[in-house]
Formats: sequence, structure tokens, C-alpha cells
Amino acid sequence: MTTKRNLLGLPWPALTDFFADLGQPEYRARQLMEWVYRHGVSDFEQMTNFPKKLRQQLAEAAVIGVGQVIARQSAPDGTTKLAIAFPDDKIVECVILNYHHGVTLCLSSQVGCKMGCAFCASGLEGFAADLTAAEIIEQIWWANKELAPRQQRVGHLVYMGMGEPLDNYSQVLNSIRMANNKLCYNIGLRNITISTAGIVPAIRQLAEENLPITLAVSLHAPMDYLRDQLMPVNRRYPLSKLIPAVRDYAVATRRRVTFEYVLLAGVNDQLVHAEKLADLVAGIMADVNVIPYNEVAGLPWQTPSEGQVRTFIRALERRGVAVTLRRELGPEIEAACGQLRRRLQGEE
Ligand code: SF4
Repeated sequence: MTTKRNLLGLPWPALTDFFADLGQPEYRARQLMEWVYRHGVSDFEQMTNFPKKLRQQLAEAAVIGVGQVIARQSAPDGTTKLAIAFPDDKIVECVILNYHHGVTLCLSSQVGCKMGCAFCASGLEGFAADLTAAEIIEQIWWANKELAPRQQRVGHLVYMGMGEPLDNYSQVLNSIRMANNKLCYNIGLRNITISTAGIVPAIRQLAEENLPITLAVSLHAPMDYLRDQLMPVNRRYPLSKLIPAVRDYAVATRRRVTFEYVLLAGVNDQLVHAEKLADLVAGIMADVNVIPYNEVAGLPWQTPSEGQVRTFIRALERRGVAVTLRRELGPEIEAACGQLRRRLQGEE
């Protein structure tokens, strides 16, 4: 059995090589990218500026995309979660989020996750596989297909779905370069955010790439003893290593970083935590994004009361910290990462 070449997500040099092997000039690769990324076409027969013989050759040798949307959930505010199945039983999720500045896609970078954060649905199952850059790009493809009837397109990317993006560094970086390519989705680097649990060497490596990507750091606890419990990565890269790396990233890229802070009732939402958090982020060009926890079946953590959330935010603001409260988008569609996938697999 011969395997067809997947052209979706294929970088420019490999795509031009593919066309050269078919005896075709470089501009055919450009035309194909227009069909695929601008018009969302996957059927070679519809690529009407290709000669019939080339269309047949392509149908015999190649495919556009290898995944399938196997489930979707939509909320009235336009938030839509897609579960996409790739070969080898890789099932991932991505979430389309409607903001006033346009459409953001929350992408997965791995199937499962090695980080084992205590409050996370994805972490419950451990790690299964890295996604390839092509599989990451294909999530944008399916999201744009979903958005086409609304005449919208993905304009911002956040690597905040399933997986730790900096644990799949090269594929994530390749996917970013591809998504940023003018012939691909032409998504500005400033419109891309990578969220990390805090893999310090990778943060330092990313700072050296000289790309104006926004870094979001999942902090969730301002003291090592508590962060050790909630995020095992902290035992390897404690706050004394993480915070300077984040500070240096902000300086090197001149980009404001974001500290994500999930509020867990009675665990990390007290005034002492707010004060300690303010100490940690002092002097860093950063925002703190406070996210009231979204309860996950099978995990013991609880959503804090609205009053507690307000008190926590006020305490940070009194210390001059720039705070945002993450708007709950589509809370009725199982907004925590990994939940739709787990339900599909009968684990909830
Ligand atoms: S919160 Fe993120 S880094 Fe932590 S286990 Fe879940 S997916 Fe992994």
C-alpha cells in the first residue's frame, strides 16, 4: 500500500520539492497554497487553474489533511470546541473563541500532557503523543472551515489547549512559522501566544529566537511548597529559576508577558497568596490573568465565590499589579482543556 503525501502543513521548501518531482514549476506550489489556505479547498478536482492531468496526479499522490472532526460543541456566544481525530488514535481538541478583536483559536500541541498539573483534565491521562506541526496547522484548517459560513477566519492563536507546547518545541515552532507564512494563514507573530507550565530552558531558548511571540506562564501558586503540589514541574524549575527567566524573556522580546493564575477555592485564593503574587511579579512587564477554576468531574477542586475572586483581584490592584479577569467563554461547553476528549472516550 502506498501512502499518499499530506500537503496540508507542508513547509514551502518541501512543497516545491514535491511539485518539482511531478515536473511542475514553483508557481504551482503557490497556487496550491492559495487553494488550501485561502479558499479552504481540499478536493484537487476543484483546483480549476491546474491542468486536468496535474489534478489526477495530485489525487493519486497526495491528500489535503488527514484528520476528521468527530465532535463539536457550540455555545450561544460563538465559542465552539472541536474534537479532531488524527491517524494512530490521536484525538485532540481546539476551541474557537470570539473576542471583540476577532477570532482566536486555542490549539493543542500534544495528546495528553506530561506535566501532571493537579487541577487539569488533560494531565489526568498522562502523555500519549506529540503532535506534528502539520497536525497543529490542521486544527486551524478545520476551525476556518467551521468559521466559513460566518465569514470569519482565525486571526489569533493561543497554544493553550492540550499539552505543554514547550515540551514539543520544534514542532510548535515549525507550526508557528508556517501559520505566519504569508502564503499560509499569514497570522502575525504578535497575535500568537505560547502558554507554558514553566520549562525554564525552553523559555530561555524561545527568548533567543527573536520572535515577538507573547509568553503566558501558568503560575497558579506564588509559593514553591504550594506550586510543587499543584504543578510538579515546579520541583524541577522552582520559582527562583522561573521568575528570572520570564523577566528576561520580557526584556529580550519587549513583549508583555502574562501570568495565568487559576483560582482554586480555599487553596490559592487567599490574601496571603495575592500579596506573595504581587511580590513575585513586581518590576516585570506583565499582566496577571485571573481565571476562576472551571470544575472538572473526577477532580476535587472547586470554583471560588465571586466575592473571593473580587477580593483577590482588588488586593493585587492595590499593589499596582495589572490584572485581567478571564471572561468565561462558553462555560456550558466544558471549557477546561481535555474535557470533551475525555467524555468522547467515556472517561467522564
Ligand atoms: S494545565 Fe497544561 S501543562 Fe498542566 S497538565 Fe494540563 S495541559 Fe499540561
